[in-house]
Amino acid sequence: MERREFLGLLSLLGATGTTGLFGQRGAQEQQLAGQLTEHTLPPLPYSYDALEPYIDTRTMELHHTKHHQAYVDGLNRAERELARARASGDFTYVEYWSKKAAFNGGGHFLHSLFWNVMGPPGRGGGGEPTGLLRQLIEQGFGSFEAFKRHFSAAALAVEGSGWALLHYRPADGRLIVLQAENQHKLTPWGAIPLMGIDVWEHAYYLKYQNRRKDYIEAWWNVVNWAQVEQNLHTAMGK
Ligand code: MN
Repeated sequence: MERREFLGLLSLLGATGTTGLFGQRGAQEQQLAGQLTEHTLPPLPYSYDALEPYIDTRTMELHHTKHHQAYVDGLNRAERELARARASGDFTYVEYWSKKAAFNGGGHFLHSLFWNVMGPPGRGGGGEPTGLLRQLIEQGFGSFEAFKRHFSAAALAVEGSGWALLHYRPADGRLIVLQAENQHKLTPWGAIPLMGIDVWEHAYYLKYQNRRKDYIEAWWNVVNWAQVEQNLHTAMGK
């Protein structure tokens, strides 16, 4: 049933004084302790073919509508189960659902970031960073070229599935490059991701097969540096 129809039905029942459905709905809510966020798949800021020829249309479609959607669904499920556990007092599976919440929450967050730090080549994607971002990259890594080599090497060397990520660390105001295994491992507390490349095979296998190195090289042509700099400003609180 559509939500609109459901709400319509509720008001109809309310108008006729029927309380059965309200009672049932109340009982369902009582099984959850605390309010839940309904996480949703964010729309892509460009079309599925916008990153061609570097990232192919089919990969983008599957990656966004299937893989990212699965993380959104998994996060909603995990948070619902934890709310149910709080309500019932039965925490038998708290370890399992906590892990699911971290894995899927990491996936949802990182993919949302990933779409945003890419753009159509020549129209927002590619080129080089400027401004404060450029300055902090040169301070932290020596040069933009040295940063690129470091970041690419980190991406290439992720063991299994994961990410290379550029973070801002508020504690000392520096940029740091790290890897993440899966969607959530190997990241220290207090570092804010500004950009990342997904090196799970689902991100590149259709076009590049096992050639992760070629995919990483191509990826630099779609990096949206203006958005990365915006993320830096947000992380710095200005
Ligand atoms: Mn992915």
